[in-house]
Amino acid sequence: MLELRSYVGGKWVAGQGARQALVNPATEAPIASASSEGVDLGAALEYARKTGGPALRALSFAARGALLKAIADAMQEARDELIELGISNGGNTRSDAKFDVDGAIGTLLAYAETGTSLGTTKILLDGEGIQLGRSPRFHGQHILTPRRGVAVHINAFNFPAWGFAEKAAVALLAGMPVLSKPATSSAMVAHRIVELIVEGKLLPEGALQFLAGAARDLVERLGAQDVLAFTGSGDTGERIRAQPNVIRNSVRVNVEADSLNAAVLGPDVAPRSDMYELFLKEVVRDMTQKAGQKCTAIRRVIVPAQVAQEVKSDLAELLAVIKVGDPADEDTKMGPLATASQLAEARGGIEQLGGKIVFGSAGKILEKGFFISPVLIEGPGPVVHEREVFGPIASLIAYSDNPGEIVARGNGGLVCSIHSEDPAFIEHTVAEVAPWHGRIYLGHPKVELSPGPGTVLPQLVHGGPGRAGGGEELGGPRGLAFYLQRTALEGARPVIAKITGAKQP
Ligand code: NAP
Repeated sequence: MLELRSYVGGKWVAGQGARQALVNPATEAPIASASSEGVDLGAALEYARKTGGPALRALSFAARGALLKAIADAMQEARDELIELGISNGGNTRSDAKFDVDGAIGTLLAYAETGTSLGTTKILLDGEGIQLGRSPRFHGQHILTPRRGVAVHINAFNFPAWGFAEKAAVALLAGMPVLSKPATSSAMVAHRIVELIVEGKLLPEGALQFLAGAARDLVERLGAQDVLAFTGSGDTGERIRAQPNVIRNSVRVNVEADSLNAAVLGPDVAPRSDMYELFLKEVVRDMTQKAGQKCTAIRRVIVPAQVAQEVKSDLAELLAVIKVGDPADEDTKMGPLATASQLAEARGGIEQLGGKIVFGSAGKILEKGFFISPVLIEGPGPVVHEREVFGPIASLIAYSDNPGEIVARGNGGLVCSIHSEDPAFIEHTVAEVAPWHGRIYLGHPKVELSPGPGTVLPQLVHGGPGRAGGGEELGGPRGLAFYLQRTALEGARPVIAKITGAKQP
């Protein structure tokens, strides 16, 4: 059985004491173990600050972008191996595992290109220079420079490759060293990616460290120049943000948490139309891809009352052909949940949602493994706007008037999709839901090859207010700002011009 190690201080270090078992969620067989006990976290943070930070800051944006390209290439070469690990350790179908690995590679490549376009500069200009007095000599210019600490990344279990890459790409490009901690239960994919980076010497020493196992007191050790990007449950996010040192040192924290993503069908959409079929396809994809364990998955299906019965029976028909089973079998369309506790949580969530189950069941469907069938609920209780059930579970909600108002009850989400061809309805609904969301997806059958609302794109921001954590990641060059300090330079224009031979992001 593989013993996952941490990569800290330029060495692979085995944790001591009791080890947490990592299992194959389809068979429940233990396949690896991890422990962070005994790993010197203080030394790891110092190593990043003293070694990785200066090494990265010595490079231009273009040079850092080239490092990201090399990581993407190494992952591409090891793609099959990474996919196999996603299947065995994540319970992913082959298609789900590809989604994770290819999403990671695509994000690294997108930020490699951003690096190229920012060029040989090491500091960024933020906006145009500003004349501050009567004379053009008195000048102001905002600049962005990399923070001098460590970017600590704590990831959720559901996207071990993509979650790692989407955070690491942005921090490394910005010039901050990374200490990455995957969720322990599915850490094998991220562990292998870090092995590839270390084996290939793809990054300067100290630019990337990796913690296998529990975070222990990692967050408590962060100081004023460090940043923390966290993805996971709202409860853990809340605990992290409330750490006294985080408050005292104003540690920059980005939280990506729960989200009750909604899909809204417009009143103009006729059953059987292309728009209607697209809506159904996207709901079913989001419910079943990665067994619904996507932070962006549709949880609330909000449809006009007059078509609710039709939507219900059409969704049930489409869900009925989703074969649930061992992802190692080629014809399996949906694998298990990631862990026994996720399965228990999902079952509890279904019960809590109330309403009537109109497709599937919360019960056992296979002897071994953390399997659950897709579940469609009609007429759930008000808890549907409060409780994220992290699995292949969605609730159907009928509206007669203003769906945007129903969407907003979710108290902040990552993405809301709207399927309609009525410009007035779209405009009104966008205005209603935009303040509550980081992204709005406007479904249209003529947009070919659209990945749907559940796919996070590196060019667009990912995050959301309120329940979704109040964070924002990615968004092309926008994402860099989290790792950079904005400073206003104020002085004589020629002096400022001389020291800022830099590009705007
Ligand atoms: P979780 O239990 O909160 O764990 C997330 C991460 O936090 C794991 O790496 C975990 O490590 C770590 N952790 C747990 N307690 C900690 C502590 N006290 N201090 C520091 N780190 C700690 O969440 P999860 O079950 O992995 O993920 C599911 C949730 O993530 C869902 O609610 C989902 O919506 C959310 N999610 C959000 C996004 C987004 O972008 N908004 C994306 C994906 C998932 P261990 O594994 O070692 O315990």
